[in-house]
Amino acid sequence: MRFRFPALLGAALAAAFSLHAQTTPANPIRITVDLTDAPRKLLHAQMTIPVSPGPLTLLYAKWIPGEHMPDGPIDNLAGLFITANGQTVRWVRDDVNMYAIHLTVPEGVSQLDVKDDFLATAPANGFSAGASTSANLAVLSWNELVLYPSGHQSDQVFVQPAVILPTGWQYGTALPRVAPGTEADTKPGADNSVHFDTVSLEQLIDSPLLSGKYFAQFDLAPEVTPKHYLDVVSDGPEDLNLSDDTLAGFSNLVRETGAVYKSRHYGSYHFLVTASDQVAHFGLEHHQSSDDRVPEKTFIDPNLLLLSADLLPHEFTHSWNGKYRRPAGLATGNYEDPMVGSLLWVYEGLTDYMGNVLAARSKLETDAQYRDYLADTAATLDYRPGRTWRDLQDTATGAQFLYLAGGGWDNWRRSVDYYSEGDLVWLDVDTTIRRLTRDKKSLNDFLGIFEGLGGNTAPKVVPYHFDDVVNALNQVVPYDWAGFLKERLTSLAPHAPLEGITQGGYKIVYTDQPNDITLAHMNASGSTNEWWSIGLNATSDGHIEDVLVGSAADKAKLGPGMQIVAVNNRQFTGTLLNDAIEAAKGTQAPIGLIVVNTGVYRVVGLDYHDGVRFPHLERVDGTPDYLDEILKPMTKGS
Ligand SMILES: [Zn+2]
Repeated sequence: MRFRFPALLGAALAAAFSLHAQTTPANPIRITVDLTDAPRKLLHAQMTIPVSPGPLTLLYAKWIPGEHMPDGPIDNLAGLFITANGQTVRWVRDDVNMYAIHLTVPEGVSQLDVKDDFLATAPANGFSAGASTSANLAVLSWNELVLYPSGHQSDQVFVQPAVILPTGWQYGTALPRVAPGTEADTKPGADNSVHFDTVSLEQLIDSPLLSGKYFAQFDLAPEVTPKHYLDVVSDGPEDLNLSDDTLAGFSNLVRETGAVYKSRHYGSYHFLVTASDQVAHFGLEHHQSSDDRVPEKTFIDPNLLLLSADLLPHEFTHSWNGKYRRPAGLATGNYEDPMVGSLLWVYEGLTDYMGNVLAARSKLETDAQYRDYLADTAATLDYRPGRTWRDLQDTATGAQFLYLAGGGWDNWRRSVDYYSEGDLVWLDVDTTIRRLTRDKKSLNDFLGIFEGLGGNTAPKVVPYHFDDVVNALNQVVPYDWAGFLKERLTSLAPHAPLEGITQGGYKIVYTDQPNDITLAHMNASGSTNEWWSIGLNATSDGHIEDVLVGSAADKAKLGPGMQIVAVNNRQFTGTLLNDAIEAAKGTQAPIGLIVVNTGVYRVVGLDYHDGVRFPHLERVDGTPDYLDEILKPMTKGS
C-alpha cells in the first residue's frame, strides 16, 4: 500500500498545472533565506513563485536524496503565508499527502509571494533535519524552506537563490555566485547578502550552504582540475587548525579518487565540514559538495580524527557512486515518488568499502588502522544473530525504517547493515578478482568502468540495475557474479562472510587487548566494550547499551537500559568489570553483578570463563597479501 496523493488524480493535476506554473531559467522561483536568526534556531524565507490563474498545488520535498527516506522535515515548517498582489491566498493541505497544499491563483495574478519559517529546533541527532545551527554557525538545507509547483521533475523547476548572513559570517557552497563573484567567494556583499545564479530545483536541494563566524577555506590538490575546496566552520577558532598532514591527506584523497574512478562529474567540489557539538553528526552526499558534520575538536584530537578518517572519502566517493551512478529505484527525479532501496548494498556498501580503502590510500589513516577497523567491523558482523532471520538484502529493502530504528537489541533486529557488511562483500569481490586474475586485475578496474562511464561529465544521473553491476564485473573477469552476489545477499548463515579477509591473506584473532579502533571508540564514548566476551556494552556509569543475543549476558537475563551498579559487590566501573571477567577466566566462579532494572534490584551470577576478547587481523604467512596490495596508493602524491 502506498499513501500519497492518489496517482490518477495526481497525473491529471500534473498535466493541468504544467500550464499554470511553468518556471523557466528566465522566470524562476526566487527564494531568499535569512539566516540572521539562525543562532536562535529560526530560519526565514521569502519566495516569489511564477504562476497563472487557476488551481495550483505546491509541494514540500518529502523523499530526501541520500537519506533514502521520506523524512523531509515538514513538522518544523511554520509561518506559511501566501499572498498575491497584496491579498491573502488561502491554502488547504491535501488530505492524504501531507507534503502538498492546494490553492487557487486569482485572476490577473502572475506571481505568488510566499513567506515561511523553518524551526531549527531538532535535537543533535538524525540527518539534515537534525540540529544544524549554533550561536556561531548554520548549515542550510534548502529543502527545509522551498515550496514548488507540482507536476514537474526536479530538473525542470528553476530557482534563483539568495541568502542573508549574520554580520561577520562567511559561507561555503557549491552554488555558483552571481557575477562578478567567483565560485570561491566566501564573503557576502556589503548588505550581508549573497545572490546565486539560477539553478534547477534539483541542483538547489543538492547544494547546501554552510556559514559561520569561524570559517576557513583550503584549496586541495591545487594542480588538479576541476578545483576542490575544503570549507570548514566551527564554534571556536581553535577547531579550524587543520594540520599540514591532515590537509595533505585530503589533497591525496582528491588525487586518489581521480586515479581510481577515472573521471569527475562536477564543475568544482566543496567539502562542507562543520566541526561542532551543537549539530547532528553525519555525512550527506551531493554531486558537487558534501555536508560533513563532525564533533568539535575533530581536527585537533587524534582520537576523534581517526574515527572520522573515512567520512570525507565516503561522501566524496558518493559523487561518483550514488549521485552519478545511481540505482534506478533511487533515481526518482522528484521528491514525491517513493524510493526503492534494494541496491543500497552497492550505493552505500561499495561506498563504505571504498571510503575506508581511500582513507588508507590517502594516508588519512595507517594500513594498520585500516586493518583494525576491518577487524572491528567483521567481528561485529560475525556476532550478529539477527542475520539468521533477516538477510542482507532485507536490510537494504527496509532501509527507510531501519535508519531511524534504535534503542537496543540491534544485533537481533539488524540495522542498515549493508554499509558495514558491504565492506566485507566488496572486499570479497576485490580479492576474488585478484585471485582469478593472479592480481593482474582488481576492483579498481571495475570502478574505472562503472564510475568512469562516459569520462568527465557535468553533474548528472546515470541509473543502473543489478544486471549492470554484474555486466561490469564480467568485463573485468568472467565469473558467476550474479550467483556470487545473490548468495551473499540472501544468506541466513549465522556467521559473517569473511572470505575477503581470508583471500586477502589475513584472519581474525581475539586477544585481551582492544585494537586501536575499538579503543578509539571506547575512549570517545567512555563506554565499556565487553561484546565479544560476556556480550554487552555499558556506559561509564554502568548503563547497558545493548546485550548480544545468545551471550552469557543474555543467558543471565540482562537487557538494554538496565544499570550494573556493582561488580563482585563493589561499585561499578568499566575497569572493575574488565578485571572481573579476566579473574573468572578458567575458573568455575560466577561473575557477581548487582543490576537495577526500572527501579528493581537483582543479584546476577554471570557464568562466563573465557576471559576478555577483542578482535584483530593477523597475517597468514605463505598466502597472497592482497589486502596490503589493496591499500597501496595509486598516485605519487600519496
Ligand atoms: Zn553514504
